[in-house]
Amino acid sequence: MALSEKDIELKIREEAKKALATGEVSCVIGWTTTRFPDKMKPFFAETEAECDELVWNKYCINGTAKYALDDRYPSKKFAIIARGCDSRAINRMLKDKQLLRENLYIIGVVCDGKENPICEECQHKNPLTYDVLIGEPVPEQIDEKRFAEVEAFEKLSPDEKYEYWAKQYDKCIHCYACRNACPACNCVECYADQYRTGWQGKASDRIQNQVYGLTRAFHVGDRCIECGECERVCPMGLPIMRQTRKMLKDINDLFGDYECGMPDDAMPVLGGYTLADPDEFM
Ligand code: SF4
Ligand code: SF4
Repeated sequence: MALSEKDIELKIREEAKKALATGEVSCVIGWTTTRFPDKMKPFFAETEAECDELVWNKYCINGTAKYALDDRYPSKKFAIIARGCDSRAINRMLKDKQLLRENLYIIGVVCDGKENPICEECQHKNPLTYDVLIGEPVPEQIDEKRFAEVEAFEKLSPDEKYEYWAKQYDKCIHCYACRNACPACNCVECYADQYRTGWQGKASDRIQNQVYGLTRAFHVGDRCIECGECERVCPMGLPIMRQTRKMLKDINDLFGDYECGMPDDAMPVLGGYTLADPDEFM
């Protein structure tokens, strides 16, 4: 029988306490309540008493994995409550050598979706990487409409596409929330924070905004785990997933089925080069 939301919450607290009790884990990254009943926030439980503040409900939306980057060289392990998407984010950061597996204790939780539109497209409700699992694994599903929005967009003319994205990026305020929430954006120092002339301009104008959007799209293009956090956190409502999905669709078309953040995730396709690579786009 599937565990109820409350059962899962209690199991999370139990596993979190066990992890801290080993003395090898400094904190457990999960979610807790806010003063709004429909808003949960990321939470770092550092004591067994604080573990009782960890919650599990449909409003536990924020990705948990990226917070492990707050200390890339910790003296003790971090425990992370990880759904399928969080486990893909962890795999992404492990592959990028931003985290070490031995510094993580992963409490996987089978997730049936949150109050977040991207969850309707989720292909991995089961955590892909974990040390302990809460919940019974469910059959994985293929999202047949994964690239439907991109395919519809591809039918527009080049001018229409340009106008669409120009108008979208005119709204960008360079807050970098999309970058900060993204597990694939994990450089210690981002090019966008450089102040030298010739790097990312600081003016919020059409050209500089588009340079930022395009550069970020190519930086995450073959490393995006499709968690949707970039689009969810954008205060200006930019449809950022539409451009990352376009990159992923092209990669799928050119190189075959491709998903990022899998446990056997090999080198990202754009991170390597072979003479047999398709070159129709050159
Ligand atoms: S969906 Fe957005 S936030 Fe998530 S990995 Fe891809 S680019 Fe980053
Ligand atoms: S979150 Fe939105 S407004 Fe902020 S930098 Fe990213 S695209 Fe621009």
